[in-house]
Amino acid sequence: MAILITGGAGYVGSHAVHALAACGYKLAVVDNLSTGFRAAVPEDVHFYEGDIRDRVFLDGVFAAEPVEGVIHFAASSQVGESMVHPLRYYDNNLGGTRVLLESMLAHGVKTIVFSSSAAVYGEPQQVPIRETDPTNPTNCYGETKLAMERMMHWAEAAHGLRYVALRYFNACGARMEGGIGEAHDPETHLIPLILQVANGQRPQIAVFGTDYPTPDGTCVRDYVHVDDLAQAHRLALEYLLHGGKSQCINLGSGSGFSVREMIDAVRRITGHAIPVSEQPRRAGDPAVLVASIEKAAAVLGWQPQCSDLEQVIASAWAWHRTHPNGYRE
Ligand code: UDP
Repeated sequence: MAILITGGAGYVGSHAVHALAACGYKLAVVDNLSTGFRAAVPEDVHFYEGDIRDRVFLDGVFAAEPVEGVIHFAASSQVGESMVHPLRYYDNNLGGTRVLLESMLAHGVKTIVFSSSAAVYGEPQQVPIRETDPTNPTNCYGETKLAMERMMHWAEAAHGLRYVALRYFNACGARMEGGIGEAHDPETHLIPLILQVANGQRPQIAVFGTDYPTPDGTCVRDYVHVDDLAQAHRLALEYLLHGGKSQCINLGSGSGFSVREMIDAVRRITGHAIPVSEQPRRAGDPAVLVASIEKAAAVLGWQPQCSDLEQVIASAWAWHRTHPNGYRE
């Protein structure tokens, strides 16, 4: 039996593919390569290039592969873009998930682990954020992730689907064994942008907002290593395959760092000065987002293993220094 991984050529997806392959799982990867890279998937993994909104294509994959469970990463994931093109996010994230669930159920596959996001919470009323806290997304991306969770909830009620929604905080870092890493075009995420400064690819890093109610005035986030996320997907899959019930689970490091602390850490690790340009706040950014990770420990037995700041930045630096243009030569 195989595990079908949608979006397996993307950033978190490709790290999960490598982690599951290393544990001996037989995998089939589906990706339309709109933002993912074929080179991020090991050569010997079955790869199907196509779009999950295409039912005929997906039915063909399920007919070719004896699938026992699905890990679903394929989705649009940029907050800013989701505010400019909200209907595209509904089409790709909700439309894609609907077709995927229909095709799964038609082939008798009823277990799915999928990427949700801390963006489902919106502005938190308390930190650390617990899974039982209110969900009030402040952007369209988070709204579609929450709607994906609800779609699975109703598919469970009607059809017996079981799911684990993994609500990631800030995914970061690169595979500790090397070979793959983060590659977005355009890049909008803090750590790769700071590392581009260290690499001489941009002159300075913009700090979005210095007047937040935090100790140094800049936003605090919970940065969790992508290899830790990958292991959590494996554990969630195994939990479901052993009969576990549906869950929504936070994945973070459990610690928060400010933008200035991240820049200082990159200075320390790369030895580069990293000039800073202080800018106004970016619309929609909450001041502090930090995960409670007690549920992931209790339900999945998951603990972050490589999410301390040094490991996150050193692994990301090793990748970006050797792949300044990502997967493009
Ligand atoms: N950020 C920043 N400068 C940048 C990019 C990001 O100051 O060039 C800040 C952003 O406002 C947020 C934090 O860094 O507080 C993390 O942003 P990122 O886009 O990496 O992830 P997000 O928290 O939006 O998921």
